[in-house]
Amino acid sequence: MTKILVTGGAGYVGSHACKALAAAGYEPVVFDNLCAGHDWAVKWGPLEEGDLLDRDRIAAVIGAHKPAGAIHFASFAYVGESVTDPGKYWRNNVTGAINLCDALVAADTKAIVFSSSCTVYGLTEAAFISEAEPVAPINPYGNTKRAIEIMLADFETATGMRNTVLRYFNAAGCDADGEIGEVHDPETHLMPLAIAAAAGDRDALKIFGTDYPTPDGTCIRDYIHVTDLADAHVRAVQRMLDGGASDVFNLGAGAGYSVCEVIDAVGRIVGNPVQAIEDGRRAGDPARLVADIAHAQQGLGWQPVHSSLDNIVSTAWNWYRAHAAAGQA
Ligand code: UDP
Repeated sequence: MTKILVTGGAGYVGSHACKALAAAGYEPVVFDNLCAGHDWAVKWGPLEEGDLLDRDRIAAVIGAHKPAGAIHFASFAYVGESVTDPGKYWRNNVTGAINLCDALVAADTKAIVFSSSCTVYGLTEAAFISEAEPVAPINPYGNTKRAIEIMLADFETATGMRNTVLRYFNAAGCDADGEIGEVHDPETHLMPLAIAAAAGDRDALKIFGTDYPTPDGTCIRDYIHVTDLADAHVRAVQRMLDGGASDVFNLGAGAGYSVCEVIDAVGRIVGNPVQAIEDGRRAGDPARLVADIAHAQQGLGWQPVHSSLDNIVSTAWNWYRAHAAAGQA
């Protein structure tokens, strides 16, 4: 079976990608330090526990498994923390990526898919953001993602290692079979926080800003179901193994929903209104971030099919309901 190294494969998007890889006939080999991921989420291949800052460890794992390609998820991902502790983010995210690339090249594994973020576009005002939009991240987390994108291009020039950069919009929802789901500690994302608030398990949700230039005054985001994201990764891997050239793809649903619209959908599906209070703007939040997904549709032959707002909320709610009591939500 063709092996694919999945760094961060014990995390939220990474574990869903592993399930999709296995369904497509690959063996995902997870490399994860379990600082944010969960060993119970590694179900479709071996777990190699390790830290990307340990050059010898990642080199040994790649040398032992000889993967045909890699998907690189492992990363710190709290924007606020990256502002107060940039060294932590640059050291972990960028040095980790350097060590991974060095080890891949040494083993002659010349294809990598990188999970980047729409954060690299910064405060854009485009209604639908295409890959041609200027890149101008506004926080250290986004800067590290952009730095790695640039580094991957340099590696290709020097070594021929091709890369596919996937810039996610807002990953949300959970595996429809309930095998894996979203578990962050601390949780900062709107969807799981709104669900916990509707379930009565936490204090009122704070709505960060109600004075944005949007129809209801709250921020608009493009929520993409994690299963659709996972499918795009499999297609990106396949395309790389087939010899496809390096490229960048935005991954979203191509539709935007406001914070108030998400809250309404959560209240309706949970059957209990979300207790919410209006709060000030969160620093660095653009009013609207919605993807133009034409390039991903064409270049990856991909279509988001699970990403209706109701399906995202329903699958997230099913996961929460089944796992909150066990501390896994
Ligand atoms: N948001 C909010 N209250 C929260 C968390 C998020 O109003 O407790 C808003 C946030 O300002 C943004 C949207 O919900 O407009 C999505 O935020 P999230 O942190 O989920 O993802 P991001 O867009 O920051 O990647």
